[in-house]
Amino acid sequence: MRTSLIALLSLYSLQITFGQEPPVYAIVIHGGAGNISPAFITPTTDATLSAKLSEVLEEGISILDSGGTSLDAVEAVIRIMEDSPLFNAGKGAVFTHEGKNELDASIMDGKTMKAGAVAGIGDIKNPISAARIVMEKSPHVLLSGAGASRFVSGHGAEVVDSNYFYTERRWEQLQRQLKKAGVEKYGTVGCVALDRYGNLAAGTSTGGMTNKRFGRIGDSPIIGAGNYANNNSCAVSATGHGEFFIRYTVAHDISALMQYRDLSIQEAARTVIHEKLGDAGGTGGVICVDKHGNIAMEFNTSGMLRAYATARGEKGVRMFE
Ligand code: ASP
Repeated sequence: MRTSLIALLSLYSLQITFGQEPPVYAIVIHGGAGNISPAFITPTTDATLSAKLSEVLEEGISILDSGGTSLDAVEAVIRIMEDSPLFNAGKGAVFTHEGKNELDASIMDGKTMKAGAVAGIGDIKNPISAARIVMEKSPHVLLSGAGASRFVSGHGAEVVDSNYFYTERRWEQLQRQLKKAGVEKYGTVGCVALDRYGNLAAGTSTGGMTNKRFGRIGDSPIIGAGNYANNNSCAVSATGHGEFFIRYTVAHDISALMQYRDLSIQEAARTVIHEKLGDAGGTGGVICVDKHGNIAMEFNTSGMLRAYATARGEKGVRMFE
């Protein structure tokens, strides 16, 4: 009797052990793609960027590890990057031709397919939170300019004086571009995440391109172009030459290849970045995560600032190929 009771108890505890699935979550972050190679990045800049990417990654991991949602992780991670002058988003946003800052951001929830975005805003400290407010508090997807600022500040988004976005580095970058009469791209930030509830989310935030004019809006606030999340396929955040990402609906195309052609996340991201986008002359990259926690980070530039972690123990911070 006693023996069979012990046998029953140990079977029960075995079931509990086997029944406890390890938490499945994954997170990938990017800080822009472009002419990023050891020749252009000094060891000091390299160390500063790596330290920041690690800090941001740890924040994302701790949210997901403690049971936070992918949406919360995406927003929190992007806010930290927006508050840093190192990236072309929030505080470190580039200047327009007229010497102003016009910021774009978007966020998408793969569970509900709800999305929110803001474009061309100049006085909201954290555009990613503004995008989330649009998603959660309005019946719309994309709000722009003064109207967007009015709406999101009415729902608690922090308003700042436009001087907040002034950084000498970006100002000088504009002066160089004005002499060359060109536009300089890259430096956008983004994050994709899968939480332990199986929900995917994606967010992207940017100052756009240095020296942009005429109210130009890039791909970052365009759902399906620079940002996309769908629990049936994947979450994607893009960075690069926005016009190409809009024309080739890059983020949605990766999702569609997975959904309709059964490609893996890596095959889908590779096909779109190296074949479709690359063949068309578009430059940039994407970070992606699928519903099983598989990740992909593809770019056709010399580098892309990125960091990743999965509950399976994969973890890293990278800049170059
Ligand atoms: N995609 C952004 C834009 O075109 C720029 C970037 O990713 O750096 O506005």
